[in-house]
Amino acid sequence: MLANSVPPAPATAANAWRERARALSDRDIRPLAVQIDRDDRVPDTVVHALSNAGFLGLGIPETLGGTGGDARSMVAVLEELSRASAAVAVLVAVHLSVCAAPILQHGTDEQRQRYLPPLARGELLGAFALTEPNAGSDTARLAARYARDGPDFVLNGTKMFISNAIPAGVTLVFATSNPDLGHQGISAFILPPGTAGCSVAQRLDKMGLRGSETTELVIDHARLPATCLLGAEGTGLRVALGALTGGRVGIASCALGVAQAAFDEMLGHVRDDDADWKRTRLARAFADLAAARALVERAAERKDAGQSYATEASVAKLVASRAAVAIASSGVDVAGPEGVRSGATPERLLRDARVFPIVEGTTEIQELILARNLLEGTD
Ligand SMILES: Cc1cc2nc3c(=O)[nH]c(=O)nc-3n(C[C@H](O)[C@H](O)[C@H](O)COP(=O)(O)OP(=O)(O)OC[C@H]3O[C@@H](n4cnc5c(N)ncnc54)[C@H](O)[C@@H]3O)c2cc1C
Repeated sequence: MLANSVPPAPATAANAWRERARALSDRDIRPLAVQIDRDDRVPDTVVHALSNAGFLGLGIPETLGGTGGDARSMVAVLEELSRASAAVAVLVAVHLSVCAAPILQHGTDEQRQRYLPPLARGELLGAFALTEPNAGSDTARLAARYARDGPDFVLNGTKMFISNAIPAGVTLVFATSNPDLGHQGISAFILPPGTAGCSVAQRLDKMGLRGSETTELVIDHARLPATCLLGAEGTGLRVALGALTGGRVGIASCALGVAQAAFDEMLGHVRDDDADWKRTRLARAFADLAAARALVERAAERKDAGQSYATEASVAKLVASRAAVAIASSGVDVAGPEGVRSGATPERLLRDARVFPIVEGTTEIQELILARNLLEGTD
């Protein structure tokens, strides 16, 4: 018998988090999914609900105001949120995986105490600003510059396609002191809320993940005290790549949620009309979904066990984002003309799914990482 949902599993902390996320999604998010997509905005009420449920503090220790939880709990929560609204899930994934997690990992005690409690409570949203108009996959082309000025750092540059970047939040930003130094020139900084000289130049209109705000961030002579340097000077690329490894597990979980939602929809249609070709599509979707789920869980398990997980994170992101696109696309076929009408769930899921192969490292970049890890034994 085909499962139309996540199979029952023994009671674990991750399953308790999953149940909580599913209940909140059913009550507070799914009814707003069409509105979020149409208005390209996640309402504040949803952010408050996420915060009250403790989802914005996942992975942050309770001693720092967080709700703890391991990687398996995080992937369960992100998947359940994404089943209801991929935009909401991506907002949470970015906040946790590529902002809070690197501050926890590389921050000083002062930085952790200052930023993690308000991030965990959802008073501040977290963002990560690496990509630039001419530097995405190729970080060697990073053009944002920083220079020392007395005890301070002064930053200049333009960052593109930045999720959650609001001046009132916390943004990790990456800049070079000298492009000739290559990767050794790159440092990571924490942009505190309200940093003078930082502004959102434009909000980018997208086909999918609408509601997860994506912006162009301009940094014009932003003066930061030395306490904003994250990690040692010159180690910014290591901070960024480590964050992206964790981020890939998060984005893979969001893709899995969209794949599951598309499968759930398809199952409903095939129950109404079980033409042979539709049954075949359903079976194929089930296999893709099962493979994606196993890989996402494996990456999270390795992370929880303290094992290297870069290869597993890349495989999970690659396969889950492909599965989301394939299942959502089949979902549109199976739904027929009603599935492509604006506001119909199948068309929204397909638009959302199509963004996952790009974010947090494109499919081609995951393939390059995998080939390197396999051939050179690095991870
Ligand atoms: C919705 C959304 C949210 C995002 N959020 C953030 C964010 O919060 N923070 C952030 O820093 N960035 C963010 N990004 C940017 C994202 O990470 C980049 O778009 C992505 O890394 C690709 O970079 P690029 O757009 O410059 O494309 P490019 O790097 O120019 O790539 C263009 C194409 O060429 C391919 N390609 C590039 N190099 C190679 C190669 N060596 N071999 C084979 N193929 C190659 C790529 O796979 C891609 O298909 C977001 C993007 C989107 C769409």
